Amino acid sequence: MDCLFCKIVAGNIPAQIVAKNDFVTAFNDITPQAPTHILIIPNQHFENIGQVAIKDEKLVGQMFQMAEEIAVDKKLTGYRTVLNTGASAGQSVFHAHIHLLAGRAFAWPPG
Ligand code: AMP
Ligand code: ZN
Repeated sequence: MDCLFCKIVAGNIPAQIVAKNDFVTAFNDITPQAPTHILIIPNQHFENIGQVAIKDEKLVGQMFQMAEEIAVDKKLTGYRTVLNTGASAGQSVFHAHIHLLAGRAFAWPPG
């Protein structure tokens, strides 16, 4: 399968890995939208978070656990998580990922 994030998990494309376990990998976004911008992905390929939820609900929790562990480790006072599902919602890489953003003020509603 020709998937960018699968290649990052496999180590075939370089990335700044922040954390990794048997199920989930976190790495810095290549185009950061905030001082902290980390992507948290399942090691196994799923097209989007909806598919993760349907096929492996525990894995959704493992992804958010890693987000929280990174936030504690980095002493973030708050953070925003973003999940774009589908091209019309802004998804551009079709391997499920949580955006973990922190280090600046965030507006609501989001853009
Ligand atoms: P989305 O638009 O929600 O699918 O988010 C995809 C994210 O992947 C974007 O924020 C991109 O900047 C990021 N991205 C694309 N290629 C890479 C890469 N090689 N390494 C790290 N992040 C990437
Ligand atoms: Zn993939």
